[in-house]
Amino acid sequence: MFEQQEKKLYERISKCDYQDARQAFLDAVTKAGVTQVESYKLPYYVGPDDKDLFMDVAEIGDKDASNVIVISSGTHGPEGYYGSVLQQDMLKKIADESLTLPKDTKILMVHAINPFGMAWHSRFDQDNVDLNRNDLKDINNPDKNEGYESYHDYVSKNNWTLDSLKTAVKLPFFLALKKSGINDGPLEQAKVDISGGQYTHPDGIFYGGCRQSWSHETLIKVVQEYTENAKRCIYVDLHTGLGSRGVIEAIAGPLASDEAHYALTKAVFPEATSKREGSSVSTLETNHLRTTMMNAVSERNPKCEITGVAFEAGTVPASKVGHALTEFNRVWANAAKIYASYELKKDFVTQEEIYDILTDQAKAPECFKAAIKPALLESKAGIAGRNAVLEAFFLKNDPEWYERIIDGSYEHINKVFDYVNDNQFQSSPGLNR
Ligand SMILES: [Zn+2]
Repeated sequence: MFEQQEKKLYERISKCDYQDARQAFLDAVTKAGVTQVESYKLPYYVGPDDKDLFMDVAEIGDKDASNVIVISSGTHGPEGYYGSVLQQDMLKKIADESLTLPKDTKILMVHAINPFGMAWHSRFDQDNVDLNRNDLKDINNPDKNEGYESYHDYVSKNNWTLDSLKTAVKLPFFLALKKSGINDGPLEQAKVDISGGQYTHPDGIFYGGCRQSWSHETLIKVVQEYTENAKRCIYVDLHTGLGSRGVIEAIAGPLASDEAHYALTKAVFPEATSKREGSSVSTLETNHLRTTMMNAVSERNPKCEITGVAFEAGTVPASKVGHALTEFNRVWANAAKIYASYELKKDFVTQEEIYDILTDQAKAPECFKAAIKPALLESKAGIAGRNAVLEAFFLKNDPEWYERIIDGSYEHINKVFDYVNDNQFQSSPGLNR
């Protein structure tokens, strides 16, 4: 049943305003009596309203608990509005005692892992990096994704005039790709090529970056710190934009090669689908997709038994999602080019030059202020791009969708709570917990 409380939360989150979502989250934290809250400020960048941006962390329950359940939101910017509202709903239920933590358990809520993307409605971060393609094993020798090359011009070409956008917007994304003669192969392959991750075009989509992102670095630090004395960590990262509308799919995090870790995850989430088995709506496992943040966290935390899933809340068809990302990226890519030309005082700039500027922390904020911010906020294409992304990742005019994804989320969360209750660690003799 859709309770009054949830209706109120939905109405408020539907503004899709980062500062308001953050305030609502912090208020819910306070009302739940949680005092352990830390806020990490994103350096250099601000939101559309010129206010600072933060990743906020709240620890709920006994700090020395053996079990830690991490619930994180906003890895992919606007997907954070679903994540934020589920976190708020859980906090309200904890406050009114309609949700009880399992024994010997604390919850770690990480709000807005990518606050820049959440505020600006970009799936990617301030350096245009997809955080789930950013666990770079070898920074000097990144994986090559030849398949992406043929799509790059299409997703970043310069002619984002109103006319070209109108034409493109009318066609479903993959159909448009086909008509443009870019790809005649199976659509599944196109999905892998485009969304699998790439490391050669900083002005493209699903770009994995050339160094560890601020979000990535901060998250690893936070999870390490808060699981230091824990024996088990169950990590849930909240996403939207893949799968059937209104359906929550739990996608197992571990790598194909990591048998033990994978088996452990299936024990906690028997219903979890997997990229390795091809049973997931997510892109088939590729070299690039092995680099999700969840995997990075677990690899760096050997003392603690870590399992991870992503909850994916289905919104609109993949073609529409692809279209939205393209629309947004055309604005982003060209604003970046314009700035690079201005910065270097040259009419023509190369990929490498844009790359250097976008990833230079000293120059990038200036680049953003000079070209990307006005392009996103004031140009028709920019406004259309931001709206399209939002419509692809959060259905603010569909309360039924919201009700279904919240209910679906709790079905999974309740199972996790049951698992933890049924699988407690034995206290060591003499250890008083
Ligand atoms: Zn996502």
